[in-house]
Amino acid sequence: MISVQQALHIIDTTVVPNRIKKVKIAKSLGCILAEDITAPIHMPSFRQSAMDGYAIIWSESAKYTLTDEAKAGDAQDLSLKPFEAVRIFTGAKVPDQADTVVMQEHVSKIEHDLSINIMPNKGANVRPIGEQVKEGDIVLKKGSVLNEAAIGFLSGLGLTKVAIYLPPKISILVTGNELQKPGKPLKPGKIYESNAVMLQTALKRFGINDIKTFKAKDTLKATRKSIKKALKFSDIVLISGGISVGDYDFVKEALDKNHVDEMFYRLNQKPGKPLWFGKKDHQFVFALPGNPASVLTCFYVYVLPILKKFSGLTAYHLPQIQAKSATAFKNTTGKTLFLKAYYNGEDVTILQGQQSSMLHAFASSNVLVKIPENLENIAINDTITCIKLDGHGS
Ligand code: AMP
Ligand code: MG
Repeated sequence: MISVQQALHIIDTTVVPNRIKKVKIAKSLGCILAEDITAPIHMPSFRQSAMDGYAIIWSESAKYTLTDEAKAGDAQDLSLKPFEAVRIFTGAKVPDQADTVVMQEHVSKIEHDLSINIMPNKGANVRPIGEQVKEGDIVLKKGSVLNEAAIGFLSGLGLTKVAIYLPPKISILVTGNELQKPGKPLKPGKIYESNAVMLQTALKRFGINDIKTFKAKDTLKATRKSIKKALKFSDIVLISGGISVGDYDFVKEALDKNHVDEMFYRLNQKPGKPLWFGKKDHQFVFALPGNPASVLTCFYVYVLPILKKFSGLTAYHLPQIQAKSATAFKNTTGKTLFLKAYYNGEDVTILQGQQSSMLHAFASSNVLVKIPENLENIAINDTITCIKLDGHGS
């Protein structure tokens, strides 16, 4: 049996993102960059006017003669002598000799004679070459999230495609002879199967949509075959049930038969003690204990960080906060506890119904309180650590 800390460390150091794809920039919103981006050009790539006005060679004089015009998009190189001015518009190429653009609001004009009423500083309103980025600069780092600003920025550099990390493909495998699909009256001895849909929707919340679901009866043959099929499809396999020590728990043996190497099994935690994690080449398998609250707790604490890390995110654990406890609590188990709780913005109430078979309290919780294995007494107003759950509570 290993500690929660050891398990998290194994997971942190085992998984690296490895699904990379080049996609059109317009299709990359919310994706994680899988490459450093180097600017292919200076930006701007020529000296640009930042204003509508007049380009001049700066001098003490206020009098200039208008000689020509430069619009945005014009390609020609206009020449300019001292005391001459070129009518210029925002974004247009500034003539090479000109060093300053005077905004039109500060100029009086009679035919070709210009009089500058407010002379700006030398160099004003001219965007130098490479002012924003220089050719060859690394402008966005691997691991950055591509938001609309980044998409606009990269398009402005002329790029059309980027390499991104793809989220993992997931297989969910639910095991158990007792499982019945909801929708019909419950048969004797059966329970409604609920872990698959819970995991599917949790995955979807975090942007993972490539999901296949499999079922297996409690036999070694069925479990082994289903694991084989699940491994064929996916990067990460999530198995529910069959990992404890009962006579009809075949998942561990079936994983072994499929050559999935165990990284850890059994954690000093409640709920979710029989959690199993393993690896086959670049694929990962979690065998989650079947009790619904164990499944979801293990999902938030162990599976979700891996999904995020695999997808290229660098902040991959759920956020934690410290809050005052509104509940007195005793931990006599010597295990790390993850307790369903409700945080109202001021203090946190540990809810009734913590058993791993019960989801009722989970449904009205918005945090999981994490109590370390060696902490025995929580008094009211003690500060406790809470893992925030997205989409739970209000
Ligand atoms: P197991 O880990 O297979 O021993 O299952 C532990 C408990 O979780 C048992 O009471 C199962 O009936 C229940 N369970 C297992 N799988 C599911 C599931 N997919 N949906 C709901 N409950 C389940
Ligand atoms: Mg079972």
